[in-house]
Amino acid sequence: MRFTLRFSPWNAAAYVLLALAPLAAYSQDAPTPETHGIVVANIDRSVKPGDDFYHYANGAWIKRTELPPDRSELGVFDSVNDLSKKRTAGLIEEAAKADAPAGSNTRKIADLYHSYMDEATIEAKGIAPLRSHLDAIAAVRDKHDLARALGESLRADVDPLNITNFHTPNLFGLWVAPGFNDPAHYAAYLLQGGLEMPDREYYLSASDSMRSLRTKYQAHVVALLKLVGFADPELRAQHIVELEHAIAERHLSLAENDDIHRANNTWKQADFAAKAPGLDWAEYFRGAGLSQASFIVWQPAALTGESALVASAALDTWKDWLAFHLIEDYADALPKALADERFDFFDNILSGTAEQHPRWRRGVDVVADPYDETTSLFLAGRGVLGDAVGQVYAQRYFSPETKAQVQAVVANIIASFRRRIDALPWMDAATKAEAQTKLTTLYVGIGYPETWRDYSAYEVKADDIFGNLWRGSLFDYHRFVARLGHAVDRREWASACYPQSVGAVNLPLQNALNFPAAFLQPPFFDPKAPAAVNYGAIGQVIGHEISHTFDTIGSAFDSTGRVRNWWKPADLAHFKAVTARLAAQYDAYKPFPDLALNGKQTLDENIADLGGISASYDAYRAFIAGEATSAQNGFTGDQQFFIAFAQIWGSKEREAALRQDVMTDSHSLDEFRVATVRNLDAWYAAFVVQPGEKLYLAPPKRVRIW
Ligand SMILES: [Zn+2]
Repeated sequence: MRFTLRFSPWNAAAYVLLALAPLAAYSQDAPTPETHGIVVANIDRSVKPGDDFYHYANGAWIKRTELPPDRSELGVFDSVNDLSKKRTAGLIEEAAKADAPAGSNTRKIADLYHSYMDEATIEAKGIAPLRSHLDAIAAVRDKHDLARALGESLRADVDPLNITNFHTPNLFGLWVAPGFNDPAHYAAYLLQGGLEMPDREYYLSASDSMRSLRTKYQAHVVALLKLVGFADPELRAQHIVELEHAIAERHLSLAENDDIHRANNTWKQADFAAKAPGLDWAEYFRGAGLSQASFIVWQPAALTGESALVASAALDTWKDWLAFHLIEDYADALPKALADERFDFFDNILSGTAEQHPRWRRGVDVVADPYDETTSLFLAGRGVLGDAVGQVYAQRYFSPETKAQVQAVVANIIASFRRRIDALPWMDAATKAEAQTKLTTLYVGIGYPETWRDYSAYEVKADDIFGNLWRGSLFDYHRFVARLGHAVDRREWASACYPQSVGAVNLPLQNALNFPAAFLQPPFFDPKAPAAVNYGAIGQVIGHEISHTFDTIGSAFDSTGRVRNWWKPADLAHFKAVTARLAAQYDAYKPFPDLALNGKQTLDENIADLGGISASYDAYRAFIAGEATSAQNGFTGDQQFFIAFAQIWGSKEREAALRQDVMTDSHSLDEFRVATVRNLDAWYAAFVVQPGEKLYLAPPKRVRIW
């Protein structure tokens, strides 16, 4: 009752219609229940496969598809994501109607969603929810108080290894994960932070587009401060942006962040004052509620630099920075004027999206998905109930039969990796043995986790979205802090990976992979599709994730997850030489005349793409051994395999978002991920690719890693 009446105009019937309307427009090209396999209608036969395999496989779809105004990107991932959002929305709607008892997960889902959808209450409260927090910041009298306030803002909101999320707007970010040097127990990792824009490049790059973005960012800071009623917003904004610029100068780059050995720095709590003077660390840790004896400091130079800034920059600037970050991070839970201002800068100017997603869909994310697709940022307190929703999602949408089928594909790809590793001429026998042990102990989670989170400590109120998000981020923080020092559960899933998530995750410290239920959908996996198509699609993705267990990151972790370089120096030398050739291949790709891919920044992902397609191709050939490969729609099995791979990467994306991806993403742009087929002999045979065609590489130039 509570829900249906105050839901207006989002009453149940209207809600279902609104929920379905945009989705129908996007999913027109997804394989329908009648077609299983590659989508022939998406192929552009005017393009030669050997010239541009990506546009050959996806060109017709790209030509006829218009990017909707609320999207910065649209592709297969998005259509699968749309299906998951629609299903998740349906489950949340059911929870809303259930009138479940107070304190139950179902009731929490209903109340959290309602608190976000109830715009009238949000407008009526105005900025009152911020008041006590702004007062606390205003009461900071000196750097000692400041240290405590900075400590109180610490959250478990970064994850540098499993989901490569290095961004936190707080001064530092906490990651609780198996220890680098003791993977049987959870350790506390501290990471650099303090920027609102996604990465240091936004503050430091000399390019015209970044300069103009910075001007707009400062105007945005002014606008938010004005909306909350700050005096002298221009001057304050100038100082805040200058401080963020100084923080950015002390940050490590994304490429530097990837080096595990550089990140493995154990500092005793008592060491911080000497190693990183400036911040009152004792007070900081008191504010954060952390009594750990030791921490792993991912970027010591950045921590030292930021700590010194706490001492050198003016107290008032830090206070304004704290206030601005509070407003920015929670703007979406505040009145429309603030929420729109945040959208205008982060989604529109920074990511090129002209319109917001409909509110119901943002509400679904508030409940069940912390990842913001448009900005590629993880947002404070969002998606905290993802595991509660996921439990229902898995029951409803993931059958034991599908699980068993995917497990069989995984087993075949692992077997393929075993054969390929054994056959490597350059790898030392001891290194091969450890690689095989890693494959033996690999935990592959399929569909859903084996245990579910306990939400009893998370308080949700139907009329308090700001408080719900605030308490949500604290609930998560306390959940992680409570496990510090305790034994690791290797089967636990990555924190932002829920059954309704679309993607796959490698957890190097746990030697584990997670493949959520919502991802195991056509066109990634279809129980009725030909084997060639499933191996080309989900098989490549599984192979990609397994490849990560041996690559630059994987070679740093042994089969127990301990940081130990288990490669012999000669193996490493060969690996570096061969992967340098792959980096050079990617450095040469230029999506825009003034912007090339960064082969080093994307190297691990490019290795995984290549290793993944190679292993899944072998697994496919082994699977069909003895059987005739039947042609479908005139395509041989091998052709279907490669087209299925290319079609899972089909996408359309705005220039601003593409440029952002090139600068900040560890993955190459979709188009160039597909181009890795030029390294496989079988692709040349399947499409009769000839010298002179643009993707053609002479056999010695084709890169083979494993
Ligand atoms: Zn990857």
